Amino acid sequence: MEIKQKLFILADAAKYDASCSSSGSKAKRDSKGLGSTEGNGICHSYTPDGRCVSLLKILLTNHCIYDCRYCVNRISSDVQRARFTVEEVVNLTLNFYRRNYIEGLFLSSGIIGNSDYTMEQMIQVAKSLRDEHGFKGYIHLKTIPGASDELLTQAGLYADRLSVNIELPTAADLEKLAPEKKRLALERNMAEVNNKSLEILNDKKKGLKPPIFTPAGQTTQMIIGATPTPDKDILNTSVNLYEKYRLRRVYYSAFSPIPHADSRLPGQSPPLIREHRLYQADWMLRFYEYSVSEIVSEAHPNLELDIDPKTAWAIRNPAYFPVDVNRASRQQLLRIPGLGLKSVDKILRIRRYRQLKLQDLLTLRIIWKRAQAFTITVDYHPGQLTDSAKLAARLRPSLANEATATATSDTECKTVAVKPTQLQLLF
Ligand code: SF4
Repeated sequence: MEIKQKLFILADAAKYDASCSSSGSKAKRDSKGLGSTEGNGICHSYTPDGRCVSLLKILLTNHCIYDCRYCVNRISSDVQRARFTVEEVVNLTLNFYRRNYIEGLFLSSGIIGNSDYTMEQMIQVAKSLRDEHGFKGYIHLKTIPGASDELLTQAGLYADRLSVNIELPTAADLEKLAPEKKRLALERNMAEVNNKSLEILNDKKKGLKPPIFTPAGQTTQMIIGATPTPDKDILNTSVNLYEKYRLRRVYYSAFSPIPHADSRLPGQSPPLIREHRLYQADWMLRFYEYSVSEIVSEAHPNLELDIDPKTAWAIRNPAYFPVDVNRASRQQLLRIPGLGLKSVDKILRIRRYRQLKLQDLLTLRIIWKRAQAFTITVDYHPGQLTDSAKLAARLRPSLANEATATATSDTECKTVAVKPTQLQLLF
């Protein structure tokens, strides 16, 4: 099979993986060699949920010995198969990189032979790029479930980021749709990557000079909507993984129906807005100090689709508002809908010198449509929030429209950077 044809197959097969954001790499690899993830005119383009659009995103192969029901590459799937050699992936990466089409490589794979053999092949790609070709660009390797600790350590020495896909929100979901994968084994891989990076951190603190190990950390991806598991369980799983393994990100990927799927899978994707709401809730958990039980509950286990979770919380908690931007703590400010981390920090800075007026907030470009019912300034008071139902009725239609537009733009940014016109130039 020609390499061009392999590329079409294996780039297309990789598009279901959302966890390719290249944010957060601070690797200080030496400046000699090809490319660098920092500076050098390289710009990263992100969708609102963090997807990156400038990596060569491919599978080493779409052959796989596993039969995960939700996956187009499962052994029982009737798709055209292809497999790159290590050399082919290395050459493709270098060629695309030199033409400035990509800033790095995102490499995943179906499982061939066994987990260790597949992981070894992927490591060889990264090793060859780094050691033989002096490649300093970004490398994200997807680890293979069940790969040995030694191989994970090696992978981390070459990759900027490693990811271990948790795949589905609960162990029961995994048992139902991907019985060959075990939750414990997946978490063991995460634990190993985390332990190794802690070890390196400790060595640095002691003044030693340890090797660079996954400078952009580890991430995971969870498919949502393939099972009826509610958002509450999804968010609890995320919190658990963030806490236990210091993940940089959990990526939520709405289930896409695949050809000839079996009856255990739904016939359609969940609404895209659900994915978007999960990213918003995830942000609240990581940066705004909310707990899962404040966002979703036993009685309401799913996020509302027509209103963002932060505004929904504010409407459910009228006693908390309005909040005076000239007096409130940072944590209180972060709970005002329409205010983000940057605007809160700016408010706190300005407050050291003078009282903020309404015009100051408008100048800071906060989302006033959301904030106005919840915010006090020196010259503005919205009155006590007495009728939450009325406020919700007023806010919901405009916020729902806004969310639909955002969720649509999320999907337009699906990842594969390689365009047919670029391919023609290459071959
Ligand atoms: S192991 Fe990965 S590639 Fe193989 S069937 Fe499962 S999800 Fe697909």
